[in-house]
Amino acid sequence: MNIFQLFKNLRPFVRPYRMLVLITLILTLIGSMMQQVNAIVLDRTVDAINALIGTEFSWNQAARILTIISIVLLGKELLSALITFAQNYFGERMRIFVSRDLSQSVIEKVLTFRMAYFNTDQNATGKIQARIDQGVSSLSRTVQNFFIDLLPLFTSALLALILMFAANVYVGLVALGIVPVYFWITVRQARRLKGWRREMRGYLESKSQGIKNIIDSINVIKSFNRESIEAGKQLDLQNQVTANQVKTRRVGFYYNGVKSFVKQVGTVLVIILTAYLVLAGYPGMSIGKIMYHVMLFSNVVAPITQLQRIFDDMNDALIYAEGFFDILHSDSEVEPSGDYRPEVIKGRFELKDVDFTYPNGTQALFGVNMTIEPGRITALVGLSGAGKSTIVNLLDKFYIPQNGTILLDGVELEKYDTQYLREHIGLVLQKNHIFDGSIEENILYGKPDATHEEVLEAARKACIYDQIMALPRQFDSKASELSGGQQQRIAIARMFLKNPPVIFLDEPTASLDAIATEQIKNSIDAIKKDCTVIIISHSISQIIDSEMVYALQNGRVEESGNPDEIYRKGGIYKDIIDASARSLNIEKIARTVSAE
Ligand code: ADP
Repeated sequence: MNIFQLFKNLRPFVRPYRMLVLITLILTLIGSMMQQVNAIVLDRTVDAINALIGTEFSWNQAARILTIISIVLLGKELLSALITFAQNYFGERMRIFVSRDLSQSVIEKVLTFRMAYFNTDQNATGKIQARIDQGVSSLSRTVQNFFIDLLPLFTSALLALILMFAANVYVGLVALGIVPVYFWITVRQARRLKGWRREMRGYLESKSQGIKNIIDSINVIKSFNRESIEAGKQLDLQNQVTANQVKTRRVGFYYNGVKSFVKQVGTVLVIILTAYLVLAGYPGMSIGKIMYHVMLFSNVVAPITQLQRIFDDMNDALIYAEGFFDILHSDSEVEPSGDYRPEVIKGRFELKDVDFTYPNGTQALFGVNMTIEPGRITALVGLSGAGKSTIVNLLDKFYIPQNGTILLDGVELEKYDTQYLREHIGLVLQKNHIFDGSIEENILYGKPDATHEEVLEAARKACIYDQIMALPRQFDSKASELSGGQQQRIAIARMFLKNPPVIFLDEPTASLDAIATEQIKNSIDAIKKDCTVIIISHSISQIIDSEMVYALQNGRVEESGNPDEIYRKGGIYKDIIDASARSLNIEKIARTVSAE
């Protein structure tokens, strides 16, 4: 990304605040002009006092000069303070607003992305987060630099230069000669640092991801006593960051030293030249001019020093903006959607020769053919990794298959309005996500405009009402403090509230104890009535209840039929059911239970 593209990309974000930009710009311009006042006043003062020295002056004369100087300098300082306050305030206001808009727009964009986007390594949570954070902070700084600081800086330097030329052409020429050298060094410095800054961006993203990984798996790390290994992994990264920082600082200080020396050379040249002109009796040259020229010269150079900071910020922005605007402009990542919205969705899914490969290259489905009949319960059975969840992912349009077609009620799934489709599908996973918030808020997620009564009713149907009422804060309790089984029933209550015609249950009881499993089975039995249900489960009791079974192996449908039929055929389904029965030790259990 170059500077013009950056400017173009930022413009829409600054446009709403153009009045703020204009006000701040004008104030800053006035401020930069006022900076020249000190030099002019000092020049006049030295000359006026110098003229008095050696003459029979009256103290009244001296007092008058000093009074005028004091009034001008203090008045100017007061005005300056007011202007600086207003300028900082308006500038900061704009920066804060722009920063808010940038953050919000990128969050809104990320929410529209298809599932595959989040599934790649380079878009891991911590990395996206770092990219957004760094992008927003560096871009909002750029907005300040671009639209507010840059113009006044140039004006200030130019004004000081013009005053120097007006005072004396030779002095002006010295300043004009030094500026390009100074500028050239600044540009070289920025170029030299650019590559390292880009490297730094990668490190920062990895660091943020690393910390996230540690927190996510802290109980595994602790239970295996692997703290030192994890710390070691981070140390490598820290060392790279440190090496990069040291290198960057060293080069930065080196160039700052060179620049400072060049500036000093310029100051010395200005002093020598002005002193020579004064001594040689050059017209208009007085002792006050030495001070005047040195101050003007420093006014010429000071903005260019600031330019260095802007250059650095700008280079950061160019690097961070790439990652940031890549997200904002990734229209190809936006979830595809059709516009088909039928009156009713019955839930007859047909998969025809479906092949599917995940973004990382794992092929999960090979030529899958399957029909899910509406109003019935279909079970997907198979060993772990067989492709069962993948099928549910495709039916919910989280991913689009590379080959083959999926029809819903006779219409291609791709033609459906994605949001409308999901409005009619309920999904319960092995581990349902509970959001930060109260139990009521979590249940309401299924239907945000539901009444409190409806929430209570949903909780009752999900067999969780009594347990919630036993909590000190009841429905206001934090949902994240519930046990796994309770959270699962909150998720089911959420689905009761949504009341969709199609339900996908992906191992809903896999991580629960027997009592919770039974309660959830009851909840699910209640919700299943008249719905199209697909259930993925390892629990025999749930599979046996189904009317149709598809047994999958390595991404292929191996057997299908009703549970009794395909059991009798003998195959993967029979193997799984037999193994489950053995692992349950059914015979012994039956003896224990019947002995009672
Ligand atoms: P099941 O639900 O039968 O246990 P899945 O459908 O989850 O199996 O997985 C099928 C295959 O796809 C497995 O080889 C698995 O490693 C792979 N897979 C599942 N999810 C992803 C993903 N998000 N990215 C890449 N590969 C995946």
